Amino acid sequence: MTDADNANRIQWEKLYEEMKGCRKCGLCDSRRNVVIGRGGKNPQVLFVGEGPGENEDIQGLPFVGQAGKLLDHALNGLMFSEGSYYIANIVKCRPPGNRAPTGEEAEACLPFLRRQLVLLRPKVIVCLGGVAAKYIVDQDAKITRIRGQWIDKKGWLVMPTFHPAALLRDEGKKEFLWRDLKKTKQKLEELEAGGFR
Ligand code: URA
Repeated sequence: MTDADNANRIQWEKLYEEMKGCRKCGLCDSRRNVVIGRGGKNPQVLFVGEGPGENEDIQGLPFVGQAGKLLDHALNGLMFSEGSYYIANIVKCRPPGNRAPTGEEAEACLPFLRRQLVLLRPKVIVCLGGVAAKYIVDQDAKITRIRGQWIDKKGWLVMPTFHPAALLRDEGKKEFLWRDLKKTKQKLEELEAGGFR
């Protein structure tokens, strides 16, 4: 293990410990688990959702319910290998009743996501849904307007797309998620051909 790998491992351990014991907002009172993330630790893509639902809260992993199955299906179909992506959320604890996180909850939790981002160093970030786009791209972002377009956010390449749960409610949105994920795959291939990792 190189010194850099070791430093990275130590940072992750520290971050896990802080996240697991976090009491920065009221969501800690009702959570069963802190949902930190899943996937490769040297990913090409970071997917960011909104917050854990009931299944995620129970299992302690993001996107393991119905919406997660849909996302996994799309990622497998487009041949994203398992280690090539990491999935996290804007908030790490379940908002009761699956409501959207409040601004205070999101702001309390975002420093964790920023630290994950620095440790993961993905080539691109995919915002899954309007809440992720709001906190990553722009407070006033409307997902229907900005989805499918590459946005440069402080040097990070960001692709906003629909949340998989939205497709469970509206089948018509399915093709847009596929289209945006295909674009993401193409971008990664272009970056690879350009000599990046
Ligand atoms: N929806 C999200 O936004 N995140 C999850 O982890 C699960 C469902």
